[in-house]
Amino acid sequence: MARRTAFLYDDRMSHHVLSDSHPMRPIRLKYTYDLLQGYGAFDAENSRLVSPRFATENEAMSYHTPEYIEAVRALGSGDSSMNPAAHNFGPGDNPPYEGMYDAAMLSTGSAVQAAEMLISDEVDAAFSISGGLHHAMPNYAYGFCVFNDPVIAIKRFLAEGMRVAYVDIDCHHGDGVQHAFYDTGAVLTISLHESGAYLFPGTGFPQETGAGLGRGYSVNVPLYPYTTDEVYLHAFREVVPRLLEAFQPDALVTQLGIDSHYLDPITHMALTVQGFAEAVAEFAKLSPAKWLALGGGGYDLHAVARAWTLAYGVMSEQEFGSEIPESYSTAYDVASLFDPAEVNVQDQVRKDALAFADASVQAIHRIIYPAHGLQGI
Ligand SMILES: [Zn+2]
Repeated sequence: MARRTAFLYDDRMSHHVLSDSHPMRPIRLKYTYDLLQGYGAFDAENSRLVSPRFATENEAMSYHTPEYIEAVRALGSGDSSMNPAAHNFGPGDNPPYEGMYDAAMLSTGSAVQAAEMLISDEVDAAFSISGGLHHAMPNYAYGFCVFNDPVIAIKRFLAEGMRVAYVDIDCHHGDGVQHAFYDTGAVLTISLHESGAYLFPGTGFPQETGAGLGRGYSVNVPLYPYTTDEVYLHAFREVVPRLLEAFQPDALVTQLGIDSHYLDPITHMALTVQGFAEAVAEFAKLSPAKWLALGGGGYDLHAVARAWTLAYGVMSEQEFGSEIPESYSTAYDVASLFDPAEVNVQDQVRKDALAFADASVQAIHRIIYPAHGLQGI
């Protein structure tokens, strides 16, 4: 039987605007939904479209402070008595905007609802595209992220006594999630990302391995700018499958940011959507009993729609043809689901990227694998 899979979305998630010049454009979620609808992705018997609910304040408080939640509410309704800078809001990455509280609560509620559908065994996999906001911190906004839905969803699984593996393939380090679970062995966090030497937030080095009982449960795979599919998948396969097999999670949470795409305007990696989909297929091969996928970064809007359509296809075991359905191609002038081919990167840069990835892999084999009874190569 094909994997029972839910897709959580409705248009309330895609209409807010952070600011006119902000790269985070929620309308990309509607593009993704439109493309999936064009392919008839929700017609299959094992595939369900679910309209998400808002998070409760208690759910938000499982990670965020009451003062911060109150600040988000006040700033989102234009309360000028609140100092935005006290919680890292202001012009730039984290502008307060109208409707911010509702948008953040809906995105978080969607992730928690998806987790609950998995806990109650209604589905085997769920994709909450509006979330994956992995930078948000307990008391401040960070890196376009207001509430940290990955952390809050993981805490929902932990409340059931489950062990959780979190794998973050966004181009940026999943620092907020790492921070939340740095000292516990109940959550294994793995983040593959463009090195913090070149990109926000400047963290995510192999030496960040966790603390106390969490030592060995925080895994970081920094990669070089212009890392292409081949190098990326090599690093992924050298690190992720064996750690997940050793850890044996009850639930797998994957953050599927696609700002590692070669067209992405704010990062420097060079993945194609088909390379990205191969990484998602690696998760599927591990046959997770409960698989929660979250969205994440992605600033080339149609690359986001194409990549997440492919991801949902992998999750729900559907194949979509390369020709974009007419409803979408007419509206948005996009012709093919796939990118042309592997990105053209100079040979020397390609070699440098491979050497960089291998250094990260070797560091993980040396300093992380022993904590899991594994031997590196
Ligand atoms: Zn990102």
